[in-house]
Amino acid sequence: MTHTTLIDYWLAGMQTDVARYLIFAVGFWALLWVVLAPVLKGRKIRPQTPPLRQLALEVVFSVRAVAVFSTVALSTLLLDHAGLLPGPERAAEWGPLWFAAALVLIIVGHDAYFYWTHRLIHDPRLFRRFHRRHHKSHNPSPFTAYSFDLGEAAINGAFVPLWLVLVPTPWPVVGLFMLHQIVRNTIGHSGYELFPATADGRPLFDWLTTVTHHDLHHAEAGWNYGLYFTWWDRWMKTENPAYHARFAAVVGRQEKRLASVPEG
Ligand SMILES: [Zn+2]
Ligand SMILES: [Zn+2]
Repeated sequence: MTHTTLIDYWLAGMQTDVARYLIFAVGFWALLWVVLAPVLKGRKIRPQTPPLRQLALEVVFSVRAVAVFSTVALSTLLLDHAGLLPGPERAAEWGPLWFAAALVLIIVGHDAYFYWTHRLIHDPRLFRRFHRRHHKSHNPSPFTAYSFDLGEAAINGAFVPLWLVLVPTPWPVVGLFMLHQIVRNTIGHSGYELFPATADGRPLFDWLTTVTHHDLHHAEAGWNYGLYFTWWDRWMKTENPAYHARFAAVVGRQEKRLASVPEG
């Protein structure tokens, strides 16, 4: 493999990932914070809005994190060239059932990987070097999605190559997984509760982490380490005890607002 191939691969990864990040971060920011802001007022989790300076810094650190992701992703190319990555090609022939199962598995697998590595980097011995940058955003924005220290970016970027060695996963599944990841990640930092609630103010899909769930992690670290699902936090008893009350308060505000609109 030539040097140029490696550089081309790195640049292509960089381009795709930066584009994906910017499309969703800018997209959700424009949609939620600008266009729909008056409609979503009742679902705003905190009264304060982060300053523009914070958003600009988050973009800079996110682009830097993507450079790390692309560097780590080079290992997939090297593994493939060494013949150590037969999974994706083999899995491509296993039909639609495996395609669906592989998508569910990679999302559930990533949720477990994220929960445990996230808990690890909250250890006081690792926090300053690995995770402080992400928590500098006490009040997150869609741009916080990839605002990571270098070490955290490397840990997160390593998931896909590790997974591909272990589980035969078709390439399009990896693409869909990345799409799901960035959508959940940017929404989770968006500052607006977008998840549906039951009449008594509980999350309708209580097994999914809502925006309030991760927002609470930024407000009060030490709880709510999960990414997509609430399972690990509940199994390990690390869910913020105030979570459901906070969620109800956030969605309750909107219910009252809607109730005040005259009928007919
Ligand atoms: Zn954290
Ligand atoms: Zn976060």
